[in-house]
Amino acid sequence: MLLSSRITIAIAFGVFGLAAQNLEVLQLRPNFYMIAGAGGNIGFQVGVDGVVVVDSGSAASADAVVAAIKKVTPQPIRYVINTSADPDHVGGNIKVAKAGQTLFTGNGGVGLATNFLGGGASILAVEQVLTRMSGPSGKPSPFPIDAWPTETFDQPRKYMYLNGEGIEILHQPAAHTDGDAIVFFRRSDVVVAGDVFDTTRFPVIDIARGGGINGEIAALQKLVDTAIPSVPIVSREEGTLVVPGHGRICDQLDVVDYRDMVTIIRDRIRDLMKQGLTLEQIKAASPARGYVRRYGSDTGAWTTNDFVEAIYRSMNEKVQ
Ligand SMILES: [Zn+2]
Repeated sequence: MLLSSRITIAIAFGVFGLAAQNLEVLQLRPNFYMIAGAGGNIGFQVGVDGVVVVDSGSAASADAVVAAIKKVTPQPIRYVINTSADPDHVGGNIKVAKAGQTLFTGNGGVGLATNFLGGGASILAVEQVLTRMSGPSGKPSPFPIDAWPTETFDQPRKYMYLNGEGIEILHQPAAHTDGDAIVFFRRSDVVVAGDVFDTTRFPVIDIARGGGINGEIAALQKLVDTAIPSVPIVSREEGTLVVPGHGRICDQLDVVDYRDMVTIIRDRIRDLMKQGLTLEQIKAASPARGYVRRYGSDTGAWTTNDFVEAIYRSMNEKVQ
């Protein structure tokens, strides 16, 4: 379809006796690749400045991810950008960063010692990702310090210009969590969306970590606004590519459908709440009907009822 080439990387973890791990590496653009099968989807841009990686996948896949990137390019990894603090997106941070080399040392650097950041790549995320990964003070951190972002920001838009293109990192407050970012590579015309957009299920709205339904819809709207479909010549399979947190490569129209789906379910729940129904009554009324077969689940970490409840709770908080 949209994909010009596919390379499958198989790495066997003989030392630990784990089964061989199959990652799929997809070339989306001349200098932009996606890795699937390592937890959350990973995007990476390559060029003369080095490699910019968006998300590092799960910890268990980190060696395979590093091998996959090295198979594509000998250039050093310069940046790891995290789209949230989820383990399937930051779990590989330590190994992927350590396999790289920050831009700020060595020849052409700004005179910092070569062991700056332990010699590894910089890890960039919104401030809240560091807060989540370091944990409340006085308690053990959920992630070791080497996995934490080395560079954070709290403005709505952070930008860089590397490998001949502008890169925008757009904070989406209160969506999947309070620390989501979508990353837009302007010349490649690829957006890496993180878990605000998950084509394998209803979006995970993590109320306990600052997520919310209206922020989720706003984040989806931001993706719609950032991406451009193939118009007026719709028969071409062109347009901005959107890499979801999980699932297949998408275009703007896929995001429009997903945004509409989430909005319809939100509106149904809002109407039922206005009628005075309880959460249990709302669940029984199946507000996600029509979408359950595609996105729903009765079991696992994120069920249809979990999604309905998260919408209910975030609307309830808003009312109070
Ligand atoms: Zn994820």
